[in-house]
Amino acid sequence: MLIFAGNMIDEINKINELISCKKKIVITTHRSPDGDALGSSLALYNLLISLDHDCHVIVPNDYAKFLSWLPGNNDVIIYENEKEKSKNIIKNTELIIILDLNNLNRLGEQLSIIVGESNSKKILIDHHQDPDNSIADIIISKPDICSTGEIVFDIISKLKLLNKVNTKIAKCLYVAIMTDTGSFKYRSTSSHTHLIVSKLISYNIEHENIHSLIYDSNSINRIKLLGYCLNEKLLLFPENKSAIISLTERELNEFNFQKGDTEGIVNYPLSIKNIIFSILIVEKDGVVKLSLRSKGGFKVNTIAKKYFNGGGHTNASGGISYVSVNETINILKKIIKTI
Ligand code: 5GP
Ligand code: MN
Repeated sequence: MLIFAGNMIDEINKINELISCKKKIVITTHRSPDGDALGSSLALYNLLISLDHDCHVIVPNDYAKFLSWLPGNNDVIIYENEKEKSKNIIKNTELIIILDLNNLNRLGEQLSIIVGESNSKKILIDHHQDPDNSIADIIISKPDICSTGEIVFDIISKLKLLNKVNTKIAKCLYVAIMTDTGSFKYRSTSSHTHLIVSKLISYNIEHENIHSLIYDSNSINRIKLLGYCLNEKLLLFPENKSAIISLTERELNEFNFQKGDTEGIVNYPLSIKNIIFSILIVEKDGVVKLSLRSKGGFKVNTIAKKYFNGGGHTNASGGISYVSVNETINILKKIIKTI
């Protein structure tokens, strides 16, 4: 017996009505989709095509290779690679389901405009704080829930469609929840999360294999880049319980950077005793991107929002800096001093 998080009767009734007959549906999610974004998208995709909907997943740009085995991956349309096709599909769609973001700007400059200007019905399903309520007709926003994948499972359940869940869908949802909970360890992981995961495992998803596909698929270059970060680029501020790692574009090139190679590096300093705040700065394609992580109640989303045009969750946030890597480090040093 699963206990459902929160009440969403109105929203569920509206969604039920929207998908009660065959529809043209687009599912989209944030730039550089992570396991939760892609897993939730493909879970819904696999469900909706099994219900005979004409459904497409359109993501803004490419994602890490370790997600490319997800069921339905070959059908994913990457907007940056297929702009005209994407525009045409969105132009003709009747319903857009937006996942794992709280603001359309997370779709990137062009796709946010195309989606924003579409007259089709829109559903937002997300777990970030402060959703922009103007972006969809139906909004299911649950910042307390660990992952969009968990919310998607609850929605499937409330739509009374659990009988349609199969191994493919279960694998996608397992990846969504596993990646956004740091393998079920972050504080947002609830007993309800575990109940859902227990149910997902009952679909013979071979969870050991899934962990391996996601976490044990490092290239040698990525492992060497990680070693370089920890050995030569780690700035520690023990008095302020903080750490910074930075990588310039030149350094990334030295390690033959591939998409996804820097993912997870920001978590390593948090495994040092007494470090509760970790920052990774990465310069890529001329943009300086920040990943912020914390342990306990220290809110990194406030910092991401205030200083770096970003946002996210209490313990995992991101943002952008419009100055150089070195200047960004200097700004961070000042912020860290106030901790
Ligand atoms: P990551 O460090 O993995 O890029 O991002 C961690 C989390 O921070 C994401 O799940 C997302 O919620 C948030 N985030 C990352 N980058 C941005 C950004 O540029 N803007 C906002 N609002 N949130 C971001
Ligand atoms: Mn998420």
